[in-house]
Amino acid sequence: MQTAKEFAQQNRENILRDLKRLVDINSIKAEPEEGAPYGAGVRAAQLKAFEIAKELGFEQTVDCDGFIGYAHSGREDKFLGVIGHLDVVPVGDGWDRDPFDMYEKDGYVMGRGTGDDKGPLLAAMYACKYLFDNKIPLKYGIRVLLGCDEECGMSDLAYYLENYPEPVFAFTPDAGFPVGHGEKGIYSSDLVSAPITDGKILSINGGMASNVVPDRCTVTLDAAYAEAVKKAAEGSDYYDITEEDGKITVTAKGQAAHAGMPWGSLNANLLAVSLLLKAGILEGEEKKAAEFVCDVMNDLDGGFIGIAAEDGRFEPNSIIGGMISLTEDGRLCLNVNSRYNTAIAPEDIEKNIENKAAECGFEVRNVGNSGPYYLEPDSPAVKLMNEIYNSVTGRNDEPYVMSGGTYARMMHNAVAFGCEMPGEEAPEWVGTAHMKNEGLSIDILLKSVEIYAETLMRLQEVDF
Ligand SMILES: [Zn+2]
Repeated sequence: MQTAKEFAQQNRENILRDLKRLVDINSIKAEPEEGAPYGAGVRAAQLKAFEIAKELGFEQTVDCDGFIGYAHSGREDKFLGVIGHLDVVPVGDGWDRDPFDMYEKDGYVMGRGTGDDKGPLLAAMYACKYLFDNKIPLKYGIRVLLGCDEECGMSDLAYYLENYPEPVFAFTPDAGFPVGHGEKGIYSSDLVSAPITDGKILSINGGMASNVVPDRCTVTLDAAYAEAVKKAAEGSDYYDITEEDGKITVTAKGQAAHAGMPWGSLNANLLAVSLLLKAGILEGEEKKAAEFVCDVMNDLDGGFIGIAAEDGRFEPNSIIGGMISLTEDGRLCLNVNSRYNTAIAPEDIEKNIENKAAECGFEVRNVGNSGPYYLEPDSPAVKLMNEIYNSVTGRNDEPYVMSGGTYARMMHNAVAFGCEMPGEEAPEWVGTAHMKNEGLSIDILLKSVEIYAETLMRLQEVDF
């Protein structure tokens, strides 16, 4: 029998050819069309993946109304799942070459979606081909789910889980190796003050996304306050202050960080609002609202808002104020994003934040909340997968938990598995997921095929 390693090496050119077929399709989410709920590009990538799945020898491909699809072989009452995604994030500026014309350079494949997540997904599909080619007996069926909306809310998997049976166990090759066996809960909402009359803040805008500590926040005020603000900012490098047409604009410059790892960052929203407080120009309701949002942002562990907790499994809870603005009816609005562990129930996160906000005259709007999940690291599947990864790579890494969210959290028995390698630094011309010049190491891609093939083969021996 051919080994998984031989298989991966022998299929190198085919894998790269098929990856190019997927990467060359611009599958950024777009306006829905008939039969294409996420737009024509995502749909085209989905149809291409079906085509490839058939070539690889899957017994059937099923289109779930364009929301998601799957390729399946073997029994359908009990099956293992692999779920990756075909949608990609927007490209942004600064690419060296066309992001949708995959090319090879010095051991890397370059293009949007190579690493997130078309490459890892294709690696898993080829791993299945290894089992088919070598006629490995399948105690469980194998279903590769072809996700189409991972980047914008995972409505694809929600659609699947509403209408189709869940795998007995699944992994998603959409994070890092080895096994991600837990994910923190993710909470977000808008904390909104009462309408402020005669406020001094004419406008405030900080942050672009809920899940990022912002590095920029701008505030405009009447020029009458120029002196007080400049005095408060004296000796600090965090602020640019400009004056024009009877107004001043303060730009606060912080240090960005992901919401899951905010420690050590410097929130520009916090810098901006604290400057106004320090300048002593805010009064009454506006001052109180400003103090409240500063208190929230000052306590990254969530102590002030009443959600600090540790559970010994994950990092401590965290909360950031990712975006700040004034609403049309003159309320100060702070968008918060919390990553929380298993020491506090999802409903208590909501209740505690609600209570503290109410106490300070704020209401909570637009709540999003998805609880944490945690599989024991010594559960048979997690242990087995970790061992396989370590034996293929010759490393000695431990299963890990994370503060980000993958498809795994939506299922009852699932983990994240690959295919970023911990500690492996790509050359600086290779971008990571979501960045310009996204690329994936061909070596890691082929190793992933090997790891996934071994995994799908040996998971057949585990009782689910
Ligand atoms: Zn992804």
